[in-house]
Amino acid sequence: MSAAGTLARPTSPGCDRPVLRERGQHEVFCGLTGIVWLHRKIQDAFFLIVGSRTCAHLMQSAAGVMIFAEPRFATAIIEERDLAGLADMHDELDRVVTQLLERRPDIKLLFLVGSCPSEVIKLDLSRAAERLSQKTLPQTRILAYTGSGIETTFTQGEDSCLNALVPLMPTTQEKNLLIAGTIADVVEDQFRTLFTAMGITNVGFLPARRAGALPPIGPNTQLLLAQPFLGETLKALEARGATRIDAPFPFGAEGSELWFRATAKAFGIPQERVTPIIDAPRERARRAVARHRDTLDGKSIFFFPDSQLEIPLARFLARELGMRPIEVGTPYLHRGILGADIDLLPDAVLSEGQDVDRQLARCRAEKPDLTVCGLGLANPLEAEGLRTKWSIELVFSPVHGFEQAGDLAELFARPLERTARLRV
Ligand code: SF4
Repeated sequence: MSAAGTLARPTSPGCDRPVLRERGQHEVFCGLTGIVWLHRKIQDAFFLIVGSRTCAHLMQSAAGVMIFAEPRFATAIIEERDLAGLADMHDELDRVVTQLLERRPDIKLLFLVGSCPSEVIKLDLSRAAERLSQKTLPQTRILAYTGSGIETTFTQGEDSCLNALVPLMPTTQEKNLLIAGTIADVVEDQFRTLFTAMGITNVGFLPARRAGALPPIGPNTQLLLAQPFLGETLKALEARGATRIDAPFPFGAEGSELWFRATAKAFGIPQERVTPIIDAPRERARRAVARHRDTLDGKSIFFFPDSQLEIPLARFLARELGMRPIEVGTPYLHRGILGADIDLLPDAVLSEGQDVDRQLARCRAEKPDLTVCGLGLANPLEAEGLRTKWSIELVFSPVHGFEQAGDLAELFARPLERTARLRV
């Protein structure tokens, strides 16, 4: 790890440009946030956070707009008295889980989600999950992962959750395509249709919509990441034999086209066969993106490190909408995963990690037209007259693939259009 604020020139593939590395105070949400989109995706799973009242409040405010008759996440609160004796805590957890499963037999997969408090008291949720699973299987499987905010960013909750699922994936020797990373169902359907048209019919998605429908994996699995924040999951999938397809992420017309073309190449499908299949959706995407070009062309943009989507998004905004990225910050720079996007990124400061005061000073000095940042920084920056975009919205919204390219561009155009309207 480099010292704070040093410029390093990495030698890894896909990244022969200097990176500003900073280690200081950082402003990010914790991994519990991932439950908001994960619980929508895995429709028969339940997420039980083992945490404090703070964790419960965070989840309520992050997901507060969604009121369900049958909620699929909750918090088992660690009270102060629980902090005193671990034995009580395990008994309490067993009681809460038993009650929950008696009331909700529809739950097929129960995640015990660790938090800062559960980690601080060293509550071993993996062991608890194993112990409880022995009682609840085959009706319900219980797994554990951490959503703690200790030295993590909010998208790492998904990485940790998917990583916990990998050992349960069935083994196959067949050639198949595995797409890892939560994407909206509608996007999944669009991807499946295009892959089928290309002749790739054996396609699985992680996570699957149902807990019992985990995709198979093996030595002939070609792996496509749909999200760049899955470093640990990638390692686990590669350890099961999968080979990652190197491609930019499917944001915008160009990113999506390259993603599909790289997959075709990995499957030995001639590019001439791909062209007629993606021509029409790519043209639709280009037209939809072009509608926002007048608003975004030539505008400067500054990314604070938050979602880990920053580099692929900056690439999309620069190359398809003419925006000028000033600084592209990312919490972690995984060159293996992001190399193809970095290669396409125009000149900009690339920064990894955060020292928030120094970064705020750079941002204020540059006065970008748009700043992409976490919720905690957005309001103060707005009050100072900067226009902001919440990075978390980019993870909550369907933004992958050709058909969503226009919506993705709109997410960035909206704050600038709002400002223009206010000025009229
Ligand atoms: S897990 Fe940690 S950071 Fe997240 S809400 Fe709970 S206490 Fe806060």
